[in-house]
Amino acid sequence: MLLRTPVTPALPEGWLSWDHRHGGFQPVTFPDGLARLARHTGRPATADRHDVGNAPLPPQMAARSPGVAPRKGAVPPPGTDLPPLLAPFGGTKILAVGRNYRPHAAELGNAVPEEPIWFYKPPSALIGHQGVVRLPAGVGQIDYEGELALVIGATCRHTPASEALSKVAGVTLALDVTARQLQKKEPQWTRAKGFDTFCPLGPWIARFTPSWLEARLETRLNGKTVQSDQLTSLIFPVPELIAHISRAMTLEPGDVILTGTPAGVGPLVPGDRVEVRAEGPVTLSLEISCAAET
Ligand code: ZN
Repeated sequence: MLLRTPVTPALPEGWLSWDHRHGGFQPVTFPDGLARLARHTGRPATADRHDVGNAPLPPQMAARSPGVAPRKGAVPPPGTDLPPLLAPFGGTKILAVGRNYRPHAAELGNAVPEEPIWFYKPPSALIGHQGVVRLPAGVGQIDYEGELALVIGATCRHTPASEALSKVAGVTLALDVTARQLQKKEPQWTRAKGFDTFCPLGPWIARFTPSWLEARLETRLNGKTVQSDQLTSLIFPVPELIAHISRAMTLEPGDVILTGTPAGVGPLVPGDRVEVRAEGPVTLSLEISCAAET
């Protein structure tokens, strides 16, 4: 359940989060959780941080998702780091589209696909804003891919492109972490894309408006911009993606679609800090850090 908070007028409108207990999207009146809440109210939060704008995962999902398990109990004293936010995910599946920006297909030596290529990322790969991607040893190069993610708001089955945008509730950001050599070696991408922590998602869900389709998407690695493009560059635009996917599988409210990554992908090493940023009707910024899997 979302904590009802005093409205702070300086904060942008239009933030949404998934309410697992009531099964729907709920407005969020502040964008970055208890730290900001505590600042505005002058008191430390008394609720679990995950109840603020970022509803807890269903218990069965949390149990499978060590990277996103809710932390109950003591709230850290002011000035100390808060526990990580949960990924804002309340759906049944996470889909991701490959090679959807022409320069990115070219940089990996791939042809532009004739129809969308898409794959699964498992919920066990989710981590939230300011989470840690754990880099497994022995699988070769592991790349970042910054992406804008769509959050579906209504059931889509055989949805025509002309109706698809009305089914999108919101957008958020994702990092499609990829074990590149495994992806090249194995015909299915499930393992290369599916390690635990390989799907940072967040920080929040911003309400969808069509102007998001012109948003600028950037990835910064240790402060340096390494990917930058606009959603207008998508080979298969959002309505076509939803039409294509929903001809094969029903999209449910809360399902997430990663829309593809611009050119500029590259390797991650322990200690790296990555920010995925989208400048749209509001600015979204997803920050993560990297550590070796132990
Ligand atoms: Zn990707």
